Amino acid sequence: MVKFASGITKESYVDIEGIVIVPDEVCKRATQQVDIEVRKIYCVGRSANVLPFSIEDASRSDAEIEKALEVGEQLVHVNQDTRLNHRVVDLRTQAKQAIFSVESEVLKLFRQFLWNEDFREINTPKLTTGTSEGGAAVFTLDYKKQPACLAQSPQLHKQMAVCGDFGRVFVTGPVFRAEDSYTHRHLCEFTGLDVEMRIKKDYSEVMDLVDRLFVEMFDKLNERCKQELEAINKQYPFKPLKYKPKRLTFEQGIKMLKDAGFEVDPLGDLNTEMERTLGKLVEEKYGTEFFILHRYPLAVRPFYTMPCSDNKAYSNAFDVFLRGEEIISGGQRVHSPELLESRAKECGINIKTISTYIDSFRYGAPRHGGFGAGLERVVMLFLNLDNIRMTPMFPRYPGRLTP
Ligand code: ATP
Repeated sequence: MVKFASGITKESYVDIEGIVIVPDEVCKRATQQVDIEVRKIYCVGRSANVLPFSIEDASRSDAEIEKALEVGEQLVHVNQDTRLNHRVVDLRTQAKQAIFSVESEVLKLFRQFLWNEDFREINTPKLTTGTSEGGAAVFTLDYKKQPACLAQSPQLHKQMAVCGDFGRVFVTGPVFRAEDSYTHRHLCEFTGLDVEMRIKKDYSEVMDLVDRLFVEMFDKLNERCKQELEAINKQYPFKPLKYKPKRLTFEQGIKMLKDAGFEVDPLGDLNTEMERTLGKLVEEKYGTEFFILHRYPLAVRPFYTMPCSDNKAYSNAFDVFLRGEEIISGGQRVHSPELLESRAKECGINIKTISTYIDSFRYGAPRHGGFGAGLERVVMLFLNLDNIRMTPMFPRYPGRLTP
């Protein structure tokens, strides 16, 4: 039996029959809590003779590799592409197991919070006729001889659910963006966490919900995922997130950036560097890495965004930032079909492709708003991982369509 066992390759799956023995105190400290005296062993799924990389090599932190180098020892570094090419092996490391437990917990907490607040989970079609967010970042396809697109977001349909008298809805599901996403935070397919709700007075109701939902989520992640966070920290060290909610208007944000020496267009969008810097400034001034920037310039928001009533250059829209990067976009939506149509035209959208959406507002529509977050971004930034490609189990970005 020993000869048979020693011939079983590493990472094979085995069934073992044996007797569990609790070792004496000395051995216990040195090894595991129990030993198994093997009586029978079966090889259920034999692994190949050569693995693409060992679990030990794939579990090493960069710091460990650098430390070894200092004393002249070269340890194997498994790069991201090799890991993704052989994802099933990479997923076996403790850190990867933990990342996907955290991700699963984020989904669970998102759902539980919203169910408790009387939201209904709905599903929206992924095969659509046109873009919802504008721009060319859409995958086109042939839908039985009719031109079609993969949904860029559930935006239009979740709003139509509200028009159908569903007062509070949420959607979790795949979202497709054809942008040339070569950055550390863009994917071609990600999981959208979308909310849409009737509002009584103004869009601060949506921001209040974001604050409560995400603070509860972060609290519970820290509480329930202690072991997972430790495992991730070992390979990918990170500082715990500071998430006391803070709200600033876009104008206040611009002023902070100007004071820090940036030249900023007051009615333009912020670029990645500005967002990062603003994140640092807010952390220094208010001691938090979680904040909402609201009253964005209308010109940089999608066509369905409600303009501010007191100044049409601005909008009732917001972005939410975590460690200086966007995790959520949201705001109040236009519910007048006439305004919606003219805004869509101004934004260069082909009205024909969204006519059924615009028509939904012709039979009475409530004041409403909502937001969309990206699951992979939330997980990446909560854990301070340096690349979003680590957070989908099987990521899709330009050039990668397998496994
Ligand atoms: P960005 O400015 O970062 O490109 P966006 O403004 O295009 O994002 P939205 O269309 O507002 O993003 O989408 C809402 C949320 O969905 C974002 O805050 C982010 O969490 C997530 N998201 C958007 N695009 C991507 C992407 N390509 N890959 C992963 N997540 C994304």
